[in-house]
Amino acid sequence: AAVIVAIDGPAGTGKSSTSKAVAAKLGLGYLDTGAQYRAITWWMLDNGIDVTDPVAIADAAGKPAIVSGTDPAAPTISVDGVDVAGPIRTQEVTSKVSAVSAVPEVRARITELQRTIAATAEPGIVVEGRDIGTTVLPDADLKIFLTASAAARAARRNGELGGKGGDLAATQAALVQRDAADSGRKTSPLAKAEDAVEVDTTELTLDQVIECVVTLVEE
Ligand code: C5P
Repeated sequence: AAVIVAIDGPAGTGKSSTSKAVAAKLGLGYLDTGAQYRAITWWMLDNGIDVTDPVAIADAAGKPAIVSGTDPAAPTISVDGVDVAGPIRTQEVTSKVSAVSAVPEVRARITELQRTIAATAEPGIVVEGRDIGTTVLPDADLKIFLTASAAARAARRNGELGGKGGDLAATQAALVQRDAADSGRKTSPLAKAEDAVEVDTTELTLDQVIECVVTLVEE
């Protein structure tokens, strides 16, 4: 049967870098579920949907066609045929994505997409997100929950933004606020599955985290 690896955790823990590298090393596919939530959020904003109105969000949730490419060397994300890999990383989308992804109709829609992709992945897939081990793929072969101190996460995020992240304290405050929203929502919040292996990456290099996860998959 296909190998399914679920990697969850808050923002800035190195989930994407780790998941992509582990998938590449093991010859598996890679799915960035955050990109899917960002894509639906981008579409709502682009179509003038009021993203402070959960009813408007729910009504629109089924409309955009979201397609994820799962090659870890070149993952892709498109909405209605348009490549949105760039636009989904803007501050505007990042600040609105938690509100959009808290709406149950959005989660139901995206969760179904994720399960379909995982069910057809050969010889397997690494799926990263917030609720993969708890809700989307509770039967995953391996579940990892990545954590790191808020300071380490903010520093990494500013590093990724190549000096365009601005003030470190502001980055940290925004991350902490997004995690609180993601952890506090009623439907499938950010959470560690009971049977997940928790890895605190605060003092680890990316290579060490990758090695740790690869070892766990091979065990
Ligand atoms: O991983 P990333 O930071 O790109 O995720 C963006 C947002 O998408 C998260 O802050 C969260 O609101 C939402 N998300 C989610 N469930 C997932 C993955 C992401 O709600 N499985």
